[in-house]
This record gives sequence, C-alpha cells and structure tokens, in this order.
Amino acid sequence: MSKKMLKFISISKKTPSKREAVNRKEDFKEIYSEFISEKAKEQSSRCSQCGVPFCQIHCPLSNNIPDWLKLTAEGRLLEAYELSQSTNNMPEICGRICPQDRLCEGNCVIEQSGHGTVTIGSVEKYITENAWESGWIKPIKLKKEKEQSVGIIGAGPAGLAAGEQLRKLGYQIKIYDRYDRPGGLLIYGIPNFKLEKHVVLRRTNLLTESGIEFLQNCEIGKNLTLEELREKHDAILIATGVYKAREIKIPGSHLENIFPAMEFLIASNKKGLGDKVNLFDSGKLNAEGKNVVVIGGGDTAMDCVRTAVRQNAKSVKCLYRRNKENMPGSTREVINAEEEGVEFIWLSSPKAFVGKNKIENIIVDKIKLGEPDDSGRRSPEIQKNSEFTIKADMTIKTLGFEPENIPKMFNSENLKTTQWGTLKTDFNTMETTLSGVFAAGDIVRGASLVVWAIKDGRDAANSINKYLENKESKREKVA
Ligand SMILES: Cc1cc2nc3c(=O)[nH]c(=O)nc-3n(C[C@H](O)[C@H](O)[C@H](O)COP(=O)(O)OP(=O)(O)OC[C@H]3O[C@@H](n4cnc5c(N)ncnc54)[C@H](O)[C@@H]3O)c2cc1C
Ligand code: SF4
Repeated sequence: MSKKMLKFISISKKTPSKREAVNRKEDFKEIYSEFISEKAKEQSSRCSQCGVPFCQIHCPLSNNIPDWLKLTAEGRLLEAYELSQSTNNMPEICGRICPQDRLCEGNCVIEQSGHGTVTIGSVEKYITENAWESGWIKPIKLKKEKEQSVGIIGAGPAGLAAGEQLRKLGYQIKIYDRYDRPGGLLIYGIPNFKLEKHVVLRRTNLLTESGIEFLQNCEIGKNLTLEELREKHDAILIATGVYKAREIKIPGSHLENIFPAMEFLIASNKKGLGDKVNLFDSGKLNAEGKNVVVIGGGDTAMDCVRTAVRQNAKSVKCLYRRNKENMPGSTREVINAEEEGVEFIWLSSPKAFVGKNKIENIIVDKIKLGEPDDSGRRSPEIQKNSEFTIKADMTIKTLGFEPENIPKMFNSENLKTTQWGTLKTDFNTMETTLSGVFAAGDIVRGASLVVWAIKDGRDAANSINKYLENKESKREKVA
C-alpha cells in the first residue's frame, strides 16, 4: 500500500473538527487529484464521440477534445499530447484552472444527459503532466533565426503565448514586465492551491531556454517609454492585463486593515514562493487568527476567502449583494468555499466600516433584488432599516478590475481606448491605433480568463507575423 494511501486511512479514523477538516481536505485533494493513468483512460473512454463536439465548440481554443480523449483511452499518450499542445500553449494550466463547468465540461453531451461530464480538464492536465515527466516537452530549437524582433509588454498568459508562437517562427522576442517574476496573474493572482507555482515557473523557464529574453522589474511608462520600445523592435504587443481595482466609497474606507484583493493575494503568493514579505511577516497581511470579511462575489472573492481559510483565519465571511444564483463566480468555487467553512452572507452590502484606527466592525444593509438590469441580472436594492453589524479585523475588497489609463501611462495620446478604457484594436488584426503595435488579453477584453488570454496571444502572434512578413518583403523590394 502506498504511503499516501496509508496516510488517508489513518486520517479517516477519527471525526475531524471543522478547522481540521479544512486542513485535511488538502491531504484528501492531494490523494484524489492524483489523476493516475487508469483513471484518465477510464474518463477518456466515457466520451461518446458524439457527432457534434459541443465541448470543442465551447473551448475558446477549439481544442480537439474528442480526438485527444480517444487517443488517451487507447493509451497513445504521445499523440494525445502532440494534438493537445498544437492548439494550447499551456494545457496543464488550463486543465487546472479553466472554469470547465462554464466551458467544455458544461457542454459535454454526457453531462447534458445527466450522467456526469467527462472530466476533460483533468485529462488535459494528465496528458501534459505525463508529457513533462516523459521528457517530451523540450525548448524550441530553431533551424533559422530571424533578425526581426518583437517587444512584448506583459508576461501574463497573453504575452507568454504570443511570445512562444512568434519564437517558434524564428523571431527575436523580448518580454518586459513590471513584476519581478514572469507569469502575470498566473504567478501573483491565482493562488497556489489552484495553480501550483512550480507549474508556472516550469513553463516560463522553458521559454527562457527557448531563447526568449525576459526583462523583469521593468515598467513601461516608467523605466522605458513605449516610443523607445517601438524604435528598438519591429513590432510591439501590449498584454498588460487590467489592474485598477474598483473602489468602495463608504464611511470608514480609510481605516487600517482594509486591503484590495491583489495586495492580499500577491503577499500570499510571494510567501508561497519563499520570498520575504514584510507586511505579511509582521502579521498585517496575514489572516491568521482574524475575523476576515471579503466583499464581492466573483472568482477573486473565492480565491481570497479560500486563501484566508488556509492562513487559519478565525472566521471567514463573504458579503455579496445578490443571491447565490446570481453570483458571477464559478459555482464549483462557491461549493468548495462553503465546504471549507466560509460563511456567505447573501443579499448584503456594506454601509460603513467602523473602528478607531483599524477596522473593527462593518455595518451592513440587507438587499432585495429588483427588476432585471441591462445585463439581465436583477438589480440589488437596499432594504430600509435593515442594517446589522458584523465583526471584522481584516477586510478584503474584491469588486473587480478596470484597465489602467494606458495612453496616459505610456504617454501616447494616439493609442485609443474604448468607452470601457480597454485598448481599441482592429477586430481582425488586433493592431491598435498605432502602426505595428498590437494588443491582446485582458487589456483588450476586460477582466476575463486565462484560456481567452492564450487564444488572444496566439491570434496576435499570427497577425504580427503577417505584419512583419509584409514589412520584410517591402524592405526587400526597396533594396
Ligand atoms: C485573483 C484572480 C484569480 C483568477 N483566477 C482565474 C482562474 O481560476 N481561471 C481563469 O481562467 N482565469 C482566472 N483569472 C483571470 C486571469 O488570470 C486573467 O484573465 C489572465 O491572467 C489575463 O491574462 P493577461 O496576459 O491579459 O494579463 P495578466 O495575467 O494580468 O498579465 C499582465 C502582465 O503585464 C504586466 N504589466 C502591466 N503593466 C505593465 C507595464 N506598464 N509595464 C510592464 N509590465 C506591465 C503585469 O505585471 C503582468 O505580469 C483570475 C484573475 C484574478 C485577478
Ligand atoms: S482549455 Fe479550458 S475550456 Fe478548453 S478543453 Fe481545456 S479546460 Fe476545457
């Protein structure tokens, strides 16, 4: 019997407390998440190979899911891997963190007929993990280098996918990022319990070994200008994501221990990576022993509540102004959080933060749902005289993200934006209003998903290649 199985049996012997249950869930997950070969085969063989591949249609990358499931069921894992990676630059990452219930798995015909979906994400993760272990994933080796270079601003999934695709074509790639590590939200946003950091580092190391140059701690607009980059490179890709946190404007917002989500998550991720983080080490950004209240109902809120649970918070509450059915976050994430002991206070909205210097309590209004708004969701309305108070030693705001003012940051008035502040691009070419400057990912779509960022990065790479080929052939004609 394996060591892990013995551990599982000994864990199962006594009834755990709620907090112990949370900690042990980690052990259980570790055991259950070992998606062993037999299970991958079993799941893959459940695919009915239906005529219309709804899973594939609902995967943003149009992954050829039925075919790689068939190959996995037949044990042809190298072919399954080759097919899977032909449309996706990081299948093992998507397999872990795509909201599959809203994408491929939610549209599986077997799921629709009530028999439980084929666990496509887990099989995708398994195929690529097996490929890493088998040594099939190798750095790009070029037969011929091209002289033309592309500067990419932002080392998140959009920038990384574009960089890899362009490098395969022989271009010189340099990726500039203001963080100290590449990966964007893969490294500093999404928590380790959903996406282990070594998985991200393995990918970015592979890109370095493939000849892609990273310049970290380099903020465009501060350390270098966009114009300097345009002079240096033959084309530019802006893939800077969206980072301006939406604010809550209520009395007491100035009090200490009220944090934006990214500050909390970055500190936690940096600790996980072994960094010294003064604000965490001093206890300020550490939820341990505290009554934590998270405000918001999206996936970022779920990441914050679940991180606080793992930091051994005394209690974790989530305030959300709509009900469970109208939550924007993934249902699976809400269920996970509930199982871990998070208390959801539905139909509630903070009215004031109260405390001397630090936050101590939150006065909360009860909400009722009114008529549907433009988005079709019922709009929240405050119920008169309904307020109540909850205790909070630490509050985390997760009200969503907006784009920063990129034209101002880059001192480039000719870079036009949409009414939402995202970069305006040509629908077909992804070129911005500046010639030779392209854009991809959240900075074009608004806050979205990793799989869409990868898709955009790949599409932008195709357009940049066409643009550079055109530029080169014009240069040759003149010469
Ligand atoms: C907390 C959280 C959890 C999430 N969980 C999931 C999930 O489970 N599944 C999922 O699919 N999606 C999730 N998302 C969304 C997903 O992470 C994003 O949609 C995706 O990362 C966008 O990719 P991107 O490359 O466009 O931008 P980002 O990943 O944001 O990367 C942008 C990069 O640009 C850099 N940058 C910005 N400005 C500059 C500048 N001026 N100069 C230099 N560099 C700059 C940043 O440092 C960053 O590294 C989550 C988002 C958050 C915030
Ligand atoms: S990339 Fe995401 S949506 Fe597409 S098959 Fe993989 S898990 Fe499903």
